[in-house]
Amino acid sequence: MVSQRKWTIGEVRLLQEEYNKGTKTANIAEILDRTGDSVRLKASRLGLKHPYGWTEDQEMLLRNEYAKGTSLSVLEKMLNKSQATIGSKAVKLGIKHPRLRFGDELVKYDNYRQALIHLLQKEPHCVTCGISDFLTLNHKIPTGKLYRSNDDEYRYWMDRPEEAKKELEVMCMNCNKLHYYDYAGLATDPLRKRVLQRIAKAHARTTTCFQCGYDEDIRVLEVDHIIRDDYRGRQLYWHVLRMDLDEIRVCYQILCTNHNLWK
Ligand SMILES: [Zn+2]
Ligand SMILES: [Zn+2]
Repeated sequence: MVSQRKWTIGEVRLLQEEYNKGTKTANIAEILDRTGDSVRLKASRLGLKHPYGWTEDQEMLLRNEYAKGTSLSVLEKMLNKSQATIGSKAVKLGIKHPRLRFGDELVKYDNYRQALIHLLQKEPHCVTCGISDFLTLNHKIPTGKLYRSNDDEYRYWMDRPEEAKKELEVMCMNCNKLHYYDYAGLATDPLRKRVLQRIAKAHARTTTCFQCGYDEDIRVLEVDHIIRDDYRGRQLYWHVLRMDLDEIRVCYQILCTNHNLWK
């Protein structure tokens, strides 16, 4: 629904300022108490362009903070960008983080996680499906966290290796997610299923990960944004269901949790 409320001069000014700064549409909508669609429509009428790339200031900030060893979770807030985006930008710029490791592919996690994984297994692999990529630490009894933990938690476990061996196991992201969902008794949301089926149809494919073909459990399949936008959660689902198949093909694809997080 597009808001019918008239735009005041103050609101337009704020919209222009925030847009130029690269503030996410969803956040601008929140500030202005308007819908994302209303903000997007007004911005396009005003001919505003979102600087989705990196501004010089952001690049400078990244260079300085990254080399200092500022953690990704802090940088995420400072730059208003995801950890994966920040990590791959750093790789492109060739800047090294004193505590983060990068191999051929981007490894988003710090040495504590890698160290813990190697502490639990000499040759790390998922205890459920056996793959040796996309590994994370699974709590045998879930604590409620899905995939991300912070340095403090890893440090806690590193200091208590015997306890860690009892509480944690190595799993890939897909199996880790299913383990948590099973524990929490979460089934597939029917709306989500419809959305995935529609995206598959737009690409003339079946409902599988477009990278690896995973199709065993739909709960592990995720909507991946090919073109960045601000739609998330149920707002995204309704958006996809309203779009033409041609548009969907350009904007969205399906990836499993492993491939989506490692992209
Ligand atoms: Zn697995
Ligand atoms: Zn996959």
